[in-house]
Amino acid sequence: MSSLLDLANLIFPDIKETVADLEKRYPKRNLPEGAMVTRFAPSPTGFLHTGSLFTSLVSSYLAKQSKGVFYIRLEDTDTKREIAGSGESLIEQLKVFDVIPDEGYISDTLEIGNYGPYKQSKRAAIYNVVIKYLISIGRAYPCFCTAEELATLRAEQEKNKVTPGYYGEYAIYRNLPVDEAMAKIKAGVPYVIRFKSMGNHNNKVFFHDEIKGDLELTENDQDIVILKSDGLPTYHFAHLVDDHFMHTTHITRGEEWLSSLPIHLELFDTMGFERPKYAHLPVIMKVENGNRRKLSKRKDLEAAVSYFLEQGYPKYGFIEYLLTIANSNYEAWREANLDKDFHEFVLTFEKMSLDGALFDIEKVASISKERLAFKKAKDLKEEVKSWAQTYDVDFYNHIVKDEEYFTSILNIEREKEKPRKDYAKYSDIYPIISFFYDDVYAAIDKRSLEWNPNIARADIRAVLLDYTQNIDLNLTEEEWFASIKELAVRHGFADNVKEWKKNKEAFKGHVGDVSEFLRIALAGRKNSPNLYYVMQILGKDKVIDRIKTTLAYI
Ligand code: GLU
Repeated sequence: MSSLLDLANLIFPDIKETVADLEKRYPKRNLPEGAMVTRFAPSPTGFLHTGSLFTSLVSSYLAKQSKGVFYIRLEDTDTKREIAGSGESLIEQLKVFDVIPDEGYISDTLEIGNYGPYKQSKRAAIYNVVIKYLISIGRAYPCFCTAEELATLRAEQEKNKVTPGYYGEYAIYRNLPVDEAMAKIKAGVPYVIRFKSMGNHNNKVFFHDEIKGDLELTENDQDIVILKSDGLPTYHFAHLVDDHFMHTTHITRGEEWLSSLPIHLELFDTMGFERPKYAHLPVIMKVENGNRRKLSKRKDLEAAVSYFLEQGYPKYGFIEYLLTIANSNYEAWREANLDKDFHEFVLTFEKMSLDGALFDIEKVASISKERLAFKKAKDLKEEVKSWAQTYDVDFYNHIVKDEEYFTSILNIEREKEKPRKDYAKYSDIYPIISFFYDDVYAAIDKRSLEWNPNIARADIRAVLLDYTQNIDLNLTEEEWFASIKELAVRHGFADNVKEWKKNKEAFKGHVGDVSEFLRIALAGRKNSPNLYYVMQILGKDKVIDRIKTTLAYI
């Protein structure tokens, strides 16, 4: 009669190392008391999801603030879903948001650290050491179940109205005699390796989550697959092996994993590995027709981090927004510490939301507006320039033609106590300011300008013509506004709106209408940044020129 060890040797003839050898190869990390080792473990199956940026941001923050280690592990065991190049692009996008690993997978050809390989597809030999051991102690076994057998099993369970799955009496290969199993393997019958659970779904397992507190969950009794027929492990098993040998102290992952936690606990306990601490982070949700649902890859633009990059939300605005989702006291901290860098905020598990966080794009915008408003024009210019280089080439070309000119445009009502809060993202800027550029102005169709239909064209013409003759830009903002009021009065317009409202019949309009004529003539539309500064930046000659050009079409 063959032994379990014979079976283990038959399946893994080349594995000579033992679990003890692995413990030696990956010794405990030498870190100060309280240092957290966290990781982000993306699967290279597409773009960076907003929810993943959130968990990775929190994970890296926790490691950094405790002087620990944050590393990245690429979970590429699902070869069918893998998208070539997406591992590297995830790393690139994380970098934009300052999520930079101390260790781990950096690119397909580069990794840093002593606990690797950090790409699961390269760790087969390590997983096999542990699986070989589990087989040898009778806690893992080859399962030869075919798709048909599994289907029959499922049908029977449905009929009997019992918990579905591969467990207990339904686990048909669980107690197959070793000799029979070995004969099948020798005959080339395909198989997977399953874990042999000793759990019972009538029992509870107690556990403390760093965020959710004390929990009571149903014990695992499923004989889950740990090694697939392609020789790669499943998530559950890789989690056990990798987080143990990489010495992760805190598993910070999405709460969608909470339901499989009993499996993970049983795996850790079976191996006699110390359980890591778990912090199941809130999943980012969205409200649709009054119902909450997960941000969806398919339905929501904002599910992809690339959307925020393309739109040009400043990274610090987006990070701060994610911090408000992470910790309920972030906003109060920010208000009390306006001049501090957000990195100084101390993130804690206690202040994390217990149920899904709601994604609120309006809030992303308002936080970003606030942050962008307090940027120095020169710094903002650099940010916008580098964004435009990738995402708006036309804008970029205009910026680099004259960077000082562009900086002065950005500086309108900026660098003062109460700056204007016009821009939530870089892509908001060009549509508002492009008229400053002559080629853009020239392309505006002057025949379809939106003149006030209640005012005679002749009056509009007269006001504009007058301004070309009496223009003076060597004035303070106040003096200049007084000159516009005078212009208004000269042509029968009220110099303030109140006056006009009291007696509309007595006036052609009011000073606001006059400003609007000038705005339309200079910018081609009714809205523009502060008109005084628009004129200061364009300069007297250009102002006169543009008004004259426009007059020809009124
Ligand atoms: N690869 C898993 C995922 O992308 C990682 C989950 C974890 O952090 O453990 O969902």
